[in-house]
Amino acid sequence: MSWRSIVGHAEVVEHFQSLHARGNMPSTFLLVGPEGIGKRLFAEGLAEALLCHNRSNSLLQACGNCASCIQVQKQSHPDVLRVERPAEKNVLPIELFVGDREHRSETGLCRDIRMRPQVGSRKIAIIDDADYLSTESGNVLLKTLEEPPEGAVILLLGTSSHRQLRTILSRCQIVRFDPLTPNEVADVLRNHPEWEVDDRIIELSEAAAGSIKTARMLADSDILQFRNDWLEQLASGDPASDDFAGTLVKFAEAAGKEAAAKRERYYFVGDQAIEFYHQLTRKYAGQKTEGGQTMQMMLERAISSWGGSLAQLAAIVERIVDFQSQIESNANAANAVDLLLSDMRRLAAGHDCLSAT
Ligand SMILES: [Zn+2]
Repeated sequence: MSWRSIVGHAEVVEHFQSLHARGNMPSTFLLVGPEGIGKRLFAEGLAEALLCHNRSNSLLQACGNCASCIQVQKQSHPDVLRVERPAEKNVLPIELFVGDREHRSETGLCRDIRMRPQVGSRKIAIIDDADYLSTESGNVLLKTLEEPPEGAVILLLGTSSHRQLRTILSRCQIVRFDPLTPNEVADVLRNHPEWEVDDRIIELSEAAAGSIKTARMLADSDILQFRNDWLEQLASGDPASDDFAGTLVKFAEAAGKEAAAKRERYYFVGDQAIEFYHQLTRKYAGQKTEGGQTMQMMLERAISSWGGSLAQLAAIVERIVDFQSQIESNANAANAVDLLLSDMRRLAAGHDCLSAT
């Protein structure tokens, strides 16, 4: 998969092309943008291009066929190091960077990146889920970022620069990724017939808020139904009515036994609400709104039946972001949902938040 065939993100491709053409590739980048828009795919493609045996000095482009390209595609290239948050953890543990207590500095990314490249001329590190770097992990990584091995390129992937440790942020060149357009989401869905969403491509691409991950979640009809019910609830101006907290918890718990799967659903609930208020803000400003038919209907309804002010919308979104952090730090989810919805009710009614911490 060539990184230049990645859907969307043309400006980012151009940016890396020009750094390469000028022979001026910085060592550390932070790729930021919402989840599910192709940052990881982009990082993999960039690694392939940087290591390709047939690449020219003027154009940063992988051939896709040489031994190096194939190894990167198969994730077996010895010079590409990858770390990501283990599903059961809510941080990127220090062990991934410097090995466990018994083997400190004998394994881990910070050691491996200092080893001489085996196949290519440089080492590439892809650090996914950088939002979850613990202070401890950040401190050990910082030493590597301060004195990176020659030619090494380190790609940190996160959802927002605000969620990064300040010390790390100051060492990175920040590269922003925008959500995909509905047409781009549709293109990606069309490229993947194995996802079996052929007959719903338009509906899913409009509802996905630019994220392939969201489009794929919404392909599950139970999830799509919940999303539409949730939008209706938000449009009413009283998110807590009809014991919706119970409905919401039931939806998240239906994800299965795994805590990570449930957490993902709680997070999704928050993202959907944030997107609703984002679109509502756009509507107030007379801008074009997206999100598909149900979203449009609910925006109309919100304006005619509720009509919260911009300050109220901003306060509600802030409260939802707090909720998402609580979910990440493994707070009791049912309690967190109860408090969230009652705070949203209060904020939507124009009162200050009482229970948020
Ligand atoms: Zn190649």
